[in-house]
Amino acid sequence: MSNFLGLALDSVRRNALDAARRALPQRCELCAAPSGAELLCSACVRALPRLGPACPICALPNPRGEICGRCVTEPPPFDATVAAFAYAFPVDRLMHAFKYHGRLALAEWAAGAILDARARRGATLRPDRLVALPLSHERQRERGYNQAYEIARVLSRCLRIPLLRHGIRRDRASPPQTALPWDQRAKNVRGAFACELDLSGMRVAVVDDVMTTGASLAELARVLVAAGASGIENWVVARTLPPR
Ligand SMILES: [Zn+2]
Ligand SMILES: [Zn+2]
Repeated sequence: MSNFLGLALDSVRRNALDAARRALPQRCELCAAPSGAELLCSACVRALPRLGPACPICALPNPRGEICGRCVTEPPPFDATVAAFAYAFPVDRLMHAFKYHGRLALAEWAAGAILDARARRGATLRPDRLVALPLSHERQRERGYNQAYEIARVLSRCLRIPLLRHGIRRDRASPPQTALPWDQRAKNVRGAFACELDLSGMRVAVVDDVMTTGASLAELARVLVAAGASGIENWVVARTLPPR
C-alpha cells in the first residue's frame, strides 16, 4: 500500500473511531464512573492537579506568577510555556496510558487541557505554525506513534494553524531522558534535533506531553530560532516540578 493511501486510511479510521467514541456513553478513564461523552467524570476533572500561578517562561510555579530568577539570569531560547497540569497523580497515569499503552483517545483530552490552560492565561500571540517535539526514528517505530504529534494534530484542527509534519527531526536516539539525573539532561540532548525548513519570521508553538527539565524543548527551540523562527512557545500537558 502506498504511504499516502495508508495515511489517508489511517485518518478515516481515526475519525470514525473518534465519532464512535463520542456517540457512546463513556466510563471515566480514572475511576470508571459514568462520564457521559467525556473521557473523565466531573469529580476526577475537578481533582486534577492544575498548575497555579507560574513563571510565564518556564511554567514553574511561584506565588505571583512572575518571571522566575532563573529565567532572568539564564533566559531560555523559548519565550513562553503554557502547561495545563503539574505532572503528578493522576495526570502521570493518564500520560503513561497515552504514551505506552496506545490510548490515543487521550490526545483529544490532552489538547483540550492545553487549550483551557491557554485561555486561562489570557491571549497569547497566535502562532503561525505548530510543531510536535519529534521522536527519533527508532523510538517512533517501536511505539508506532508520537504522542506529541497526536496532540498537535488535534490542536492544529481546532485552531486551524498548520502543523509542520516534515523537515524537523530528531537525529539521535539518545538514552531516554528519564534514565538520567536532571543536570545531565541538557548534555544528553545537545545536537539531537535538525530542521531543514526556513521558518523566517514565524512564531512557532512546540507541542509536547510532559516538560521535565525543559532540556529537549530548549534544544529544539535553539534549532528553530537558528532556522529563522521569531518566537517560540511551548505548549505542554504537564510540567514536572523539580525535586525539593
Ligand atoms: Zn472519574
Ligand atoms: Zn522561569
